[in-house]
Amino acid sequence: MSRTFNFSAGPAMLPEDVMRQAAHEFLNWNNSGMSVMEMSHRSPEYMGVAHKMEADLREIMAIPDNYKVIFTHGGASLQFAAIPMNLAEQGDTVDYLDTGVWSHKAIKEALRYANVNVVAEGGSDNPTEIPNHSTWTFSPEAKYIHVCVNETITGLELKDDDLDIVFAQGKPVIADMSSNIMCREIDVSKYAMIYAGAQKNIGPAGLAIVIVREDLLGHARQDTPTLMNWDVYANNESMFNTPATYAWYLAGLVFQWIKKIGGVAEIAKINESKAHKLYAYIDASDFYSNSISEHNRSWMNVTFNLANSALEKTFLDESKSAGLLSLKGHKAFGGMRASIYNAMPEDGVDALIQFMDVFAKKYA
Ligand SMILES: *Cc1c(COP(=O)(O)O)cnc(C)c1O
Repeated sequence: MSRTFNFSAGPAMLPEDVMRQAAHEFLNWNNSGMSVMEMSHRSPEYMGVAHKMEADLREIMAIPDNYKVIFTHGGASLQFAAIPMNLAEQGDTVDYLDTGVWSHKAIKEALRYANVNVVAEGGSDNPTEIPNHSTWTFSPEAKYIHVCVNETITGLELKDDDLDIVFAQGKPVIADMSSNIMCREIDVSKYAMIYAGAQKNIGPAGLAIVIVREDLLGHARQDTPTLMNWDVYANNESMFNTPATYAWYLAGLVFQWIKKIGGVAEIAKINESKAHKLYAYIDASDFYSNSISEHNRSWMNVTFNLANSALEKTFLDESKSAGLLSLKGHKAFGGMRASIYNAMPEDGVDALIQFMDVFAKKYA
């Protein structure tokens, strides 16, 4: 099979230019006679890779100087526990918005370490809309407010008007951006801490990124494991132990690719166009539908159902044959899901729409 368009939710497709460069450099990086994978993480060559990767990330996200950037193992999920451990004492109250499965998981883990106040209840396992702002109840005692900015399974994304209410509370805002980091420009200074697993919009699995304001460091609970203490990472250039060196390198290539395209502002224009045309096609069709409230539809994960669900298997078989992979929705939500992260070219979305249209006419 030749190279396809892969709509997987994560691990997800990476930019073809990045994959080609990595392949080209695989056996012999920069005339060093070794692969990046084989280098000591403390060698000057590798430190050069690591420093450039961080500098490029800081540049493309415009991360202010009073923020540390930390690279960790354990995915976004390890941060579900690290967040309360670094920011709250046992018995402290913390605020969480509940907008879907990833919010539930963060809440479940935080409950081990703190008293969780659920600000906004999604009302079901897979909410399709953000609860009305008038129902949100923040706790005056909360040490921080946690949000999952993009619920990957349903494709439900918090927008500026939702986030503005959170920022207005004047508390440290902690944001899971695993599936929408760098999809558009954001003002990092509004957040206390941002985190993301790499395998959706950044690079290969095995790496998570934490962007944390410096004044939040140094307050971890006494019993916090060393490798969950953000302070330890910040003081050791994220090399207290051996980092995921090859994943860092590949993430670095992705950041260079974003810069070459013109930065996150340019990527955002492409993302908006991709999402807009896919939703517009679905809305105009009687054959497909999307159940997420229009205002909060995700740019990154577009879910849809076939009016006749008996055709789902045929849809998946035929789309795969057409070189459009991994369109099956998450089992918790059903239906289809097209994850169209930064690395998905607009041609991929055009090809998907064209396929959907041919399929609809064939089976209508
Ligand atoms: C995928 C995902 C996670 C979990 O990431 P891991 O790296 O597998 O731990 C957490 N939050 C969101 C929003 C996700 O999409």
